[in-house]
Parts: sequence; C-alpha cells; structure tokens
Amino acid sequence: MKRDAHIHSPFCPHGTKDSFKLYIEKAINNGFTDISFTEHAPAPQGFMDTVPDQDSFLQPNMLEPYILELQQLKKQYANDISIKIGLEVDFIEGFEKETTQLLNEIGPTLDDSILSVHFLLNEQKYSCIDFSPPSFIHFSQQFASIEDVYSLYYKTVQDSISADLGPYKPKRIGHPTLIHKFQHAHSVIVDDYEMILKTLDLMKHYQYELDVNSAGLAKQFCLEPYPPTRYILLAKEMGIPLVFGSDAHRAEDLHQFYEDVYTQAMRKASL
Ligand SMILES: [Zn+2]
Ligand SMILES: [Zn+2]
Repeated sequence: MKRDAHIHSPFCPHGTKDSFKLYIEKAINNGFTDISFTEHAPAPQGFMDTVPDQDSFLQPNMLEPYILELQQLKKQYANDISIKIGLEVDFIEGFEKETTQLLNEIGPTLDDSILSVHFLLNEQKYSCIDFSPPSFIHFSQQFASIEDVYSLYYKTVQDSISADLGPYKPKRIGHPTLIHKFQHAHSVIVDDYEMILKTLDLMKHYQYELDVNSAGLAKQFCLEPYPPTRYILLAKEMGIPLVFGSDAHRAEDLHQFYEDVYTQAMRKASL
C-alpha cells in the first residue's frame, strides 16, 4: 500500500483549480494505491473566519457537489486506485458543539478525515496561526513570549484530541507541529519537546493516527515536516499509526517529499 491521505482539491477556496483527475492520475502514475481527499470542512455554525479573504473553509453549499463528484470518481477509478472521501475538520476552541453537529450531518458520507488546529483563541479573539509571517508575529505580540504561543497551540491540539465530538470525530490529527510554520521568520528557538511528547502521548492514549505531513518542508520559514523526523520516529516507536499526507493544494505538490519524509523515516525506524 502506498498512501497519500491529506490532499486538497479544486473545491478549496484558497487552493488551485487543478482538477481531481490531475491529482488522481498523477497518484496512479506514481504508484499510489490509496489517496484521501481532505478538503477544509465548512466552518462550524457561527464561526467567523478571521483571515482577510475569509477563504479558510469550504462554503456549506459546496459540500454536496464535492462529495457527489468524488463518489463518481471513486467508482470510475475503482480498478486503479482506492479513493477515500474526507475532510480536514477544524478544531476551534468554544465551537465543540457546532463542530459535533457538523460532523453528525456529514460524517456518514465520509471515509477518512483529519482533525486540525489552525485557529487559536486568545482574549476572546480567534486568530489563524498559519496565514502569514506578519500575522503570526502580530498575534504573538499579544503574549509574553513565543513559547507562550506554542504552549497555547499545543494545549489546543491536546484539547482537540481529548474532545468529545461525537461518533464521527476524525481518526487522524493533522500536522500537530503547524506552529513551526514560521519558525525561521521569528527566529526564536523554542524547546517544545515536552509539549510534543505530551501531544503524542494523548494521541496514543485516545488511539489517533498521526498525519505525517510533508508540506512544511516546502515552506520557506519552516523547512521541516510536521512533525519533524525525530517525532515521526518517536510516534512510530510508540505504536501510533502514521499516515503520510502531502497536504497538496495543487497537483504539482502531490506526494511532495514522500521519499524524504516517509520512506526514509520508515527505513530508519526499522534499523
Ligand atoms: Zn488549505
Ligand atoms: Zn491544515
């Protein structure tokens, strides 16, 4: 089995219009046997997107066409590749009830999903932490230190792991070190080993899979996967299921760094 299970789509409001077929045929040509499309789920009811273009989430009326098109493609390509229909669902502190409602409505039609933290709550205001270096730095100025921002981020990821979001809660935790995305923009080195360890412990305890996400390697201020290789190896040792995801928002990025991030980690882990 060769799997890439974190892929965006032409339905992504901040992605590209690259067609599903472009992604699917590239995956087949590269020998992948399993792919999951995990478009950003619609926002939970009442949540106001804080990014300038308000394009973090799928519009609710686009959910049905997204699923219908994938159901059709899943059948069409059934002999060549297993296509899973999924969403990347945001965990937003304070919107647990609305997120559960959303999952209860759409969960039955999904095969595979991811739970991710992109928004943090501080002083009753939400901020998107992976939007841009200036917006991250602006957000971090509300805190005494970057370390405090990291603490809040990991605390929120940990809350996402232990949260009760009902029977359709995703089984995989998305890019749990996304807070590193702009580490070379602010240049503060934070020792977050214990915070990541605690996050992995909780994932193990609650039986979640880890999104081994290569997208960070392509980001100029990150330059490492989410999570970095040492933690991928640690998670493997702990018995946490690892699932590669390229987090591609265009066909060109599909399977990006698969060998560097996933194959090599698996090789090291078996030594
Ligand atoms: Zn996205
Ligand atoms: Zn994400």
